[in-house]
Amino acid sequence: MSPTKLVIGNWKMNGSAGLVKEFAALAKGDWPACDAALCVPYPLLAVAQGAFAVSPLRWGAQDCSAESDGAFTGEVSARMIRDFGARYVIVGHSERRSGHADTDGHVAGKAQRALAAGLTPIVCVGEKAEERDGNQTAMVLRRQLLQLVRTLGRGLGSIVIAYEPVWAIGSGHPAPPGLIDDAHRCISEILAFHAGTSATAVRILYGGSVSPGNAEAIMSCRHVSGVLVGQASLAPTAFLDICKAAELCQTAGLAAPAAQTIGT
Ligand code: PEP
Repeated sequence: MSPTKLVIGNWKMNGSAGLVKEFAALAKGDWPACDAALCVPYPLLAVAQGAFAVSPLRWGAQDCSAESDGAFTGEVSARMIRDFGARYVIVGHSERRSGHADTDGHVAGKAQRALAAGLTPIVCVGEKAEERDGNQTAMVLRRQLLQLVRTLGRGLGSIVIAYEPVWAIGSGHPAPPGLIDDAHRCISEILAFHAGTSATAVRILYGGSVSPGNAEAIMSCRHVSGVLVGQASLAPTAFLDICKAAELCQTAGLAAPAAQTIGT
């Protein structure tokens, strides 16, 4: 697994061409030595391509079709996203799984299309509050991941996983670090068991109410390779601060703090 932390912003249905340009202006200064990208709405991909061309920031989209092309009104293919120079595409976000009926099968199909188009899919997995309360987290993760293993085969080594407990997203309360690290270790073990060595390169991000105030504690967890950031990725200085925390953690190579409190 790369020691370089990865920070991904998910703008959801927010942002503007002006905001892309604000980020580009900020990134002209000193930018932390982590990998960072913003996943913007489709209409902003062209703006991001122009604005971030000579920037440390990369860009991506928030979903793609599981089909290659054809009569799928309203859908956007992975190849079209790649044509705008994007590096990443988020698939399987809980808002797509719940609001757009994306099944594990659809998500795996989207990840496969993304890989075929030369994109890195960021595949979101994670349990809902009632599943957490029923001690079903490991079972849910296993179900979501096995479909990926079966569909992607050796391609699995080229994806990024984002562990996003649904109950932490947009709540202002991230999962506690012990729970995050346990879930990430569980994901690594499931992948290693079912996919062997092809899974060792997979980066596992945490997502859910990450902010400048808690990013360092989260990224200090041993099994956390970076973060997926929603709300805080809409503020250029907040995103920069999270990237600074990423650089700090990768430089320090911090081990997981046993009982650190995570602020919001
Ligand atoms: C997300 O929706 O992917 C997310 C992590 O959102 P937030 O950071 O706002 O909780």
